[in-house]
Amino acid sequence: MSRIRLGLVGLGKIAHSQHLGAIAATPGFELVAAASREGTLPGLPVFTSLSAMLASDIDLDAVALCTPPQGRHALAAEALEAGMHVLLEKPPGASVSELGPLVAKAERSGRTLFTTWHSRFAPAVAPARALLAQHRPRSVEIIWKEDVRVWHPGQDWIFEPGGLGVFDPGINALSILTTILPEPVFVTGASLSVPANRQAPIAAALDLADGSGLPIHAEFDFRQEGEQSWDIHVETEAGLIMLSSGGRTLSHDRRILVDEPEREYAEIYRRFEALIAEGRSDVDLAPLALVGDAFMLGRRLTVEPFEG
Ligand code: NAP
Repeated sequence: MSRIRLGLVGLGKIAHSQHLGAIAATPGFELVAAASREGTLPGLPVFTSLSAMLASDIDLDAVALCTPPQGRHALAAEALEAGMHVLLEKPPGASVSELGPLVAKAERSGRTLFTTWHSRFAPAVAPARALLAQHRPRSVEIIWKEDVRVWHPGQDWIFEPGGLGVFDPGINALSILTTILPEPVFVTGASLSVPANRQAPIAAALDLADGSGLPIHAEFDFRQEGEQSWDIHVETEAGLIMLSSGGRTLSHDRRILVDEPEREYAEIYRRFEALIAEGRSDVDLAPLALVGDAFMLGRRLTVEPFEG
């Protein structure tokens, strides 16, 4: 089969740190162009917009959108209308409802729409799901705390409406939660700490439950200095199951079961290739819906201004 000719849109942090390497390592894809307001890539045609890339004489089959969530809908709609398969970075959009028209367009055009959740491809996540299918969970605690100044320097869009604030990393934990637990979960309460000079939370606490009342508590914080935490602890009837380092390691009663390097983006591109070959889409909005519900139910606390 011929390789899928891909265009990359948005040459920011994640495009450089993950997508370029993962695309190069996936034989099914050939990176043939990029769209960037200012960036360049050696040896590759780079257009100043998606529109210019689509209007060029370069043949494209698919695009990967690595821009901030605000504005993602318009880009995805344009790409689908041009007959592209579309990969969306997480979160898939700035709202849940904006995905509906994209799903309809993908169905109508017979193209693949893939809402990626990179953390679900972390090496310990599938083993954790298998363990939790055997051992009933009794409670869940999520601790997702990182330093926004280290991980997102100068990314002002994160604190704008639609940028999700601390839920930009927090949604990764929710993407793991919604795939490892055997039952769907919902938000029962939230508090959102929003800096006086910003529009989105810098910290949040979330309470969730499943249909049987499983208690789930999550603490998200963007102000963490020193040791960073990307951990999910699940108390089960058979002891403590811990996913740590963002899903890279798994232990059961402190016995390490998985401790592997991450290759999330290589897995994402393998999956995108398979979806295109099968003529299917993969759209899961559960993590984004939880964040939307946190914004609807959350008590808003104003905290000190943040200068990032
Ligand atoms: P970023 O460094 O700010 O890059 C985003 C890129 O999008 C910019 O460099 C810019 O590229 C383009 N862009 C187009 N319109 C823009 C606008 N109005 N404001 C800012 N940039 C705009 O962000 P990122 O960290 O790569 O994140 C992009 C997406 O990937 C987000 O949804 C994020 O949640 C997700 N993600 C990020 C990470 C991470 O560790 N950073 C990890 C996983 C997923 P051009 O200048 O080339 O046009």
